Amino acid sequence: ATSAVLALSLTACGQDSEGGSAESKGDAKGGTIGIAMPTKSSERWIADGKNVETNLQKLGYKTKLVYGEDEPDQQVSQIENLITQGVKALIVAAIDNKSLNNVLQEAKDAGIPVIAYDRLILGTPNVDYYASFDNTKVGELQANYIVEKLGLASGKGPFNIELFAGSNDDNNTKYFFNGAMSVLKPYIDSKKLVVKSGQVDLNKVTTLRWDGATAQRRMDDILTGSYKSGRVDAVLSPYDGISIGILSALKSDGYGTKSKPLPVLTGQDAELASVKSIIAGEQTQTVYKDTRELAKVAANMVDAVLNDKKPETNDTKTYDNGSKVVPAYLLKPVSVDKTNYKQVLVDGGYYTEGELK
Ligand code: BGC
Repeated sequence: ATSAVLALSLTACGQDSEGGSAESKGDAKGGTIGIAMPTKSSERWIADGKNVETNLQKLGYKTKLVYGEDEPDQQVSQIENLITQGVKALIVAAIDNKSLNNVLQEAKDAGIPVIAYDRLILGTPNVDYYASFDNTKVGELQANYIVEKLGLASGKGPFNIELFAGSNDDNNTKYFFNGAMSVLKPYIDSKKLVVKSGQVDLNKVTTLRWDGATAQRRMDDILTGSYKSGRVDAVLSPYDGISIGILSALKSDGYGTKSKPLPVLTGQDAELASVKSIIAGEQTQTVYKDTRELAKVAANMVDAVLNDKKPETNDTKTYDNGSKVVPAYLLKPVSVDKTNYKQVLVDGGYYTEGELK
């Protein structure tokens, strides 16, 4: 299933050219830019890699794109290699936000500017700019969707909800979760939302490396342990790959019938499998983040820095990495469900209608 998804994704997600490559490509004018992405196991990062390459090449740079297979050590040595090869700048989507301090010191010593891509890198002054989405907003969109779908704002309830968060070594995780909890907590406090598993704190609900199978096992355990009676009405899921895992656990437990309907189930990234699941009435919602736009922002940041210009930023307060506040450009995430996927994803050129069949 994974390879089918990945093969499809080469044409999906609004990409302009064929598969990713570790080879230098493009025009030499501006030198070579190193791009370190976290994993090929999720479509969005494949799209990100391609789109960053395309944008940099349009600006006259060569590119070297590497993927870290979700292994922090591997990513560190890949970045070391890029530095040795003399890249002019680095764009990095970190696997483990705290593992890059030494290698980024090497970048600094070699005069190589660094853009944190999508995920902020923590604990080092050697991050120049941050290109991402409004990560708090992502969580708010997921939670508001749940509130609206359940009718909580108009007084309905109580309902049962279970909570999932992303990887604890990804700085985005707490922004997503805190954004969601700012909306959900009042309902949990007033007992209109009940978390039967009792697992409410972020450290109880994270999912290492965003792994769908890990989430599936946790959902299995929750269903067995806490739902001998009653049923789950909503699940906060931070990412489509996790949502697909949760769905498998729910279906194995008999959810998906008239008497036991699937819960409201959120997600993130508008990955192909999840958009299809939404169309089929299984997953309920996802948060779309246009990787084409993010890639453009990051490429423009590199181009500005290398030309001694100030990159455009729109947030200079939020993203304190423990060493400094990193100036950021944050894009807007968009909530997508059955009612607007055509308009947002198809009309927006992210997927063709055929890809969603
Ligand atoms: C990204 C999300 C993605 C997740 C898992 C996060 O850092 O912001 O878009 O769903 O990683 O890949």
